Amino acid sequence: MTQIKRAFKYRFYPTDEQAAELSRTFGCVRLVYNKALEERTAAWNSERLRMSYGQSSARLTEWKKTAEFAFLCEVSSVPLQQTLRHLQTAFTNFFAGRARYPRLKTRKRSRATAEYTRSAFTWRNGHLTLAKMTTPLDIRWSRPLPVGAGPTTVTVSRDRAGRWFVSMLCDDAIASGTDTDLSVGVDMGITSLVALSTGEKIPNPRHERRDRARLARAQRELARKAKGSRNRDKCRHKVARIHARITDRRRDFLHKLTTRLVRENQTVVIEDLAVRNLLKNGTLARAISDASWAELRSMLEYKCAWYGRDLIVVDRWFPSSKMCSVCGALTAKIPLHVRTWTCRCGATHDRDVNAARNTLAAGLAVAACGADVRPQREPSRTGRSATKQETQRATAGIHCL
Ligand SMILES: [Zn+2]
Repeated sequence: MTQIKRAFKYRFYPTDEQAAELSRTFGCVRLVYNKALEERTAAWNSERLRMSYGQSSARLTEWKKTAEFAFLCEVSSVPLQQTLRHLQTAFTNFFAGRARYPRLKTRKRSRATAEYTRSAFTWRNGHLTLAKMTTPLDIRWSRPLPVGAGPTTVTVSRDRAGRWFVSMLCDDAIASGTDTDLSVGVDMGITSLVALSTGEKIPNPRHERRDRARLARAQRELARKAKGSRNRDKCRHKVARIHARITDRRRDFLHKLTTRLVRENQTVVIEDLAVRNLLKNGTLARAISDASWAELRSMLEYKCAWYGRDLIVVDRWFPSSKMCSVCGALTAKIPLHVRTWTCRCGATHDRDVNAARNTLAAGLAVAACGADVRPQREPSRTGRSATKQETQRATAGIHCL
């Protein structure tokens, strides 16, 4: 058994007072984050000073004493402190070269969220009550919390479709995975969600094609609406709702898939997103596929850590879909609508499964020599021209989705 921290996320339905309190808190969180970010940027630009979390926190105390920002005292102080911690993390990641410079939070772009630590909520008999509230949240327990577990951190959020969520970080114990020496390569396609090197193909969740068509239609409608109009708002809400439905179903699906992959295999190999993006095209299908890829990777990362498995991310570009996984020969271009092809060596391949097999082989080769895991960002000359051709074909092929 391994002790881990695990987040459990549920929908909840706030009362009018709770919704008002939370909206106010979200606004204050955003304001504090932005003000602190602006001050840190100014301090750096004018005096090359790096402000610490402690200094930002002291500034917050000062803002609260001014007439202009006295309203910050009306909401729980914990989410405001937490957002300063998040800003600190963002800067740490920036200085370590892991992330871009932190950006201002905007009402439209950023997720409305507030994080409460142990001192800012009570947890009693399965009821969660946040600071500044008199009644517990009305949570829909879609699955139970682990027996005896209580949350150590609680994050409340509202998505762009207007739905409320509470995510609870709990201590949990998980059984370690059974011993296995199996490996699997995973290829994430556009037409099918995932192909495995074992030959298995996992289709997109049911209804997704229809939802995606609806989404495209709603987005076109939105583009036609006048900026700032009430109709545009309505339309934006509709787009957000369809989007939320697609991503929810996919997430659910990805959870089941990643749990299974990690339970059944000692080694899981995937391609790096930057590598996949060499074949970028701007379609909706692609955007959704990229988003789920990122989610698949992060799920695999933490689940592999839970179960003591190895995740190998192949970050070198290679023509995974055009190379025969049996003999290694390269084939001529394969249009996207061609799902199977036969190599000169006589092997017949499913396009996606073949790609998954090549990914697996590349990953195991990297693992075996141990050293060469550094990204080779610049594809070779031939690689680049192959990329370009593939991009065009991929774009042309999308219409048959
Ligand atoms: Zn072959």
